[in-house]
Amino acid sequence: MSHTPSGLSRRQFLKGLTMAGAASLLPLRLLMPYTAQASTAFNAKDFQIFRNACPRNCYDTCSIKTYVKDGVVQFIEGAPESTFTAGGLCVKGYAYPRRVYSPDRIKYPMVQDGRRSGNWRRVSWDEAMDRIAKKILEIKEKDGSLLGLGLTKYSGNFGITNYGVEGMMSSLGYTTRFVGTPCWPAGIDAQNYDLGDMWCNDPEDMVKARYVIVWGANPAWCSVHSMKYIMEAKRRGAKVVVIDPVFTQTAAKADVFWQPETSSDGALALGMARHILDKGLTDKGFVTENALGFEEFAAYLRENVTVEWAAEVSGIPAEQIREVAEEFATADPATIWIGYGMQRHTNGGASVRAIDALVAMTGNVGKEGGGARYGHLRTWGFNYHALLQKQPEGSVGFVGAGGPKGEFDFTKGGAASYTDRTFNINKTAQGILDAKDPAIRMLWVSCKNPFAQDFDRPKLEKAFDTLELVVTVDQFFNETVANSDIVLPVTTLFEEWTVNVSYWHYWLGINEQAIKPMYETKSNIEIASLLSKRMNALAPGSCTFPQDIDTREWLEKEFNQGIYDSFGIKHWTDLRNGPVKARLASTASWHDMKFGTPSGKYEFRSDLCREHGHEALPKYKEGRKPYDAFRLLTPHTKFGLHSQFINLDWMHEYNKEPFLYMHPDDARAKNINDLDTVRVFNKVGEVRLKVKLTRNVAPRSLVMYEAWFGRGNDFNVQNLVDDEAADMGAYKTGAPGVAIHDQFANVERV
Ligand code: SF4
Repeated sequence: MSHTPSGLSRRQFLKGLTMAGAASLLPLRLLMPYTAQASTAFNAKDFQIFRNACPRNCYDTCSIKTYVKDGVVQFIEGAPESTFTAGGLCVKGYAYPRRVYSPDRIKYPMVQDGRRSGNWRRVSWDEAMDRIAKKILEIKEKDGSLLGLGLTKYSGNFGITNYGVEGMMSSLGYTTRFVGTPCWPAGIDAQNYDLGDMWCNDPEDMVKARYVIVWGANPAWCSVHSMKYIMEAKRRGAKVVVIDPVFTQTAAKADVFWQPETSSDGALALGMARHILDKGLTDKGFVTENALGFEEFAAYLRENVTVEWAAEVSGIPAEQIREVAEEFATADPATIWIGYGMQRHTNGGASVRAIDALVAMTGNVGKEGGGARYGHLRTWGFNYHALLQKQPEGSVGFVGAGGPKGEFDFTKGGAASYTDRTFNINKTAQGILDAKDPAIRMLWVSCKNPFAQDFDRPKLEKAFDTLELVVTVDQFFNETVANSDIVLPVTTLFEEWTVNVSYWHYWLGINEQAIKPMYETKSNIEIASLLSKRMNALAPGSCTFPQDIDTREWLEKEFNQGIYDSFGIKHWTDLRNGPVKARLASTASWHDMKFGTPSGKYEFRSDLCREHGHEALPKYKEGRKPYDAFRLLTPHTKFGLHSQFINLDWMHEYNKEPFLYMHPDDARAKNINDLDTVRVFNKVGEVRLKVKLTRNVAPRSLVMYEAWFGRGNDFNVQNLVDDEAADMGAYKTGAPGVAIHDQFANVERV
């Protein structure tokens, strides 16, 4: 095997591209090594081998084997020990070394003289921390609390010790937090109402399914390792149905592809349920013994739902709905993968409940190879030592008990006199603008690029203009950094100790520090300890975060006997030999039929759901009314995760510029030709870009892939996406989701 001296092996890169379906498009010069050095024969003994884990909030959370020589990451590969990662990474993963050694990395703490001026100057860590600490103390002095200090952080690095960012805020006092999640909250609540928790089957058992419906997910791009299970199920005779508003690469592999009207998923599921009911294909044993409220649900279907109605709402012919419903109900087992895209609607939670009901009424819950697959947090039982830091004595905060919940509720309740103040992470701009008594004066941004991910970018710009100090911790200059006063350079996965676990599969991998931190980069917890040092030097007792930390020890502090037992290891250092899989009693979630709902059964009728202001039954809920001529969809791109990866040279080969994708019939009506430059606009803002005409996009829809393209290109889909809320999410994640896919816009040639 030959390897490029400063990158990954050709074979590995090609394998990644093949997994991502792109090998045939590979420009020849990408096959050339990063440097002009000649390839050398491979001998594993020539390298130090480290274990890493991709922390990018991706379904796959890959275990990585890293080869280091002379203190340099030479190349990486997927860990062969994990049957899920199975020795392969996606093309983004294979590009990691390009990220570490990118000349564009932020190398030192820097201060910008004039936000958006580009007048950056290098400062020392001492100077940066001094300025930040003095501002924090000034806020405390002026306001009598630290509620004027806000944190917006999400999943740019999902390593468990990175929850030390939240810990750092707690160690300063009660602050303002942006809580919730843009990703999956409506579906989480829906599954909690129906099943009592979000818990999915092991994805590896999809091979046993006789019928697979992938509903609103595109694993060929977003979970490449799961595709092998779908394809194996297919090889064993399963039928694969893909339901998506876009003809995706996953859809191209399906036996049946449905392209329903967006927001009509609930109607489609209920239409299928009605047909299953009429045909007597309900699993009577399950609905009688293990479920609550099925008869009420059946009565709702009989009185309010017909297949013809579902066909009219969704645009899918009634005969096809009947055929797929019948096949799904008679296949044993049958499964539905519920994607996060289909719940990013004003009726997304209601739609997930309707799909759950379809899986439950056919007896596919609790069955290996079956299940309503959404996600799980069953392997996340760490200590959260980095997260759980104490406020300094005498801290004053928001009056009331409970505290911020966020995606993972670690607060454990309690009757605290004060808590942090919380705003919805999906309305960051509005939260900053609304915050009064006190206003948010300073914002700390970490593991997140709000200008690429948050909604209503023009409003966000206005909101940032009200802030007195913005500190962003990042690896690359991006639009959020441009809107900041101070940027602090953070380590990549190869430069820090942490541990990562998945919300989809059941493998656990360690993340070792494989190389010394480049330049002056530091991990999030090291940054917190530096801030603590400066705070305490200026005002003793003002910060409780430990001032001298060993990041390897902090990793150890996250483990407990429960984790060791569930993964069958004696100590975390066992993971240095490779990732391990949780010891599962069954690959099926809910295999013991002990549901987490108030009744202990699967709840077709959820009184808790009604108490929370929704329907008790999984009824149809209409989608958002269109406010412009076209539906606008902004899904994730293939070669990036939000703004991550897309700026790397290899990715740039595939993303030289963004495109609008639209149906040729719509383009003809607008006198738009292929590759014309167009203006896409709506009430939020506008973008200008070239158009590609394709029948992969449904008529009356516009598709633009969400990402930061960088390199002087100011394209940003968040110029067109508002912050309209999804129907659910507040119950389990602290804030409702956001209707990213209920957006509308118009287009014209320029
Ligand atoms: S982005 Fe996803 S598939 Fe790619 S390496 Fe990371 S975890 Fe694996």
